[in-house]
Amino acid sequence: MGIDWTPDADLSRLSTFRIGGRAEWLATVHTEKALRTLLSRVAAEDLRFDLVGLGSNVLFPDRGLDGLVVRLEGEFKRIRYSGSIVEVGAAVALPKLARRTAQRGLSGLEPLCGFPSTVGGAVVMNAGCYGVEIKDVLLGCRVLGRDGTPADLAVEDLAAGYRTTNLQGSGRVVVSARFRLQEGDSAVALARIEEINEKRWASLPLGQPNVGSIFKNPPGDHAGRLIDECGLKGREAGRAQISPKHGNVIVNTGGAGSSDVLELMLAAYHAVERRFGVRLEPEIILAGELRREWDESLRCQTPSPIHVTN
Ligand SMILES: Cc1cc2nc3c(=O)[nH]c(=O)nc-3n(C[C@H](O)[C@H](O)[C@H](O)COP(=O)(O)OP(=O)(O)OC[C@H]3O[C@@H](n4cnc5c(N)ncnc54)[C@H](O)[C@@H]3O)c2cc1C
Repeated sequence: MGIDWTPDADLSRLSTFRIGGRAEWLATVHTEKALRTLLSRVAAEDLRFDLVGLGSNVLFPDRGLDGLVVRLEGEFKRIRYSGSIVEVGAAVALPKLARRTAQRGLSGLEPLCGFPSTVGGAVVMNAGCYGVEIKDVLLGCRVLGRDGTPADLAVEDLAAGYRTTNLQGSGRVVVSARFRLQEGDSAVALARIEEINEKRWASLPLGQPNVGSIFKNPPGDHAGRLIDECGLKGREAGRAQISPKHGNVIVNTGGAGSSDVLELMLAAYHAVERRFGVRLEPEIILAGELRREWDESLRCQTPSPIHVTN
């Protein structure tokens, strides 16, 4: 009850990259009660599970994932208003939330309207855009621990930094988040959303599956600029390509695999390290075995004599 089970689910449909093999099971969970029961079973049986939001920051492996992939729906899509405080389910789409709150004259989420994300994914990633990070408007979130035990966390508990929180890789599931917004003018907030969307679509590759920025920006610089200066825009591996429009975005030109993306990531990493002495750090989540593969590929290469820490 409260969970729809799909065996042998196609992971490529769960990521905006449109890349990935099969998941042993996809569990689409509709209620917190069902999620608690599921997590306690998963913990008791020591099963493997991955959480997915809109899959806009994740690379799934071609060979797929064992165990469960969990996606939230149903009651995780609720929005509740109490003055300028908004309590939002983790599965609510952030652009939709930004628009809804702007329509009510509540301001604060507009800069975060221009990329695909669930509220849960954005909290876990501390997503940000145009100088605003989600932690700046977040009061706190409700999580379920690995065994399903609930906890209410304040934003200060999340150790949120640039594209990071201590929720990443912790096995905890964000079920809802509370935001404090500012009372303002609805027309102004909606106009800002239009302006931001126009800017975004001008700078990102439209219509080609991607997951936004591949690497974090090193302090004081832009990963895209460094990759561009290495002459890598347009470089291809299989059916993946470093976007000719943005050096820090890899696009799936049709039928790309995770190995194609890793090959381009390694090419960019090594070129930037050789030329600038900067070691880029992936921003995207490398799911399953991909993170180990990435770390091992770096260990196997001859290290550069220069190391600039981020
Ligand atoms: C075109 C484009 C533009 C982008 N621009 C930006 C940008 O400007 N700024 C930015 O920060 N990002 C950007 N991104 C990246 C991405 O949109 C964000 O990281 C986003 O917040 C990810 O949300 P998601 O729901 O898709 O999470 P997913 O990609 O599904 O998951 C990301 C991580 O969060 C975990 N997770 C997801 N939901 C939960 C939950 N409820 N509880 C626990 N863990 C969870 C997953 O397990 C995974 O580890 C862009 C992506 C694209 C495709």
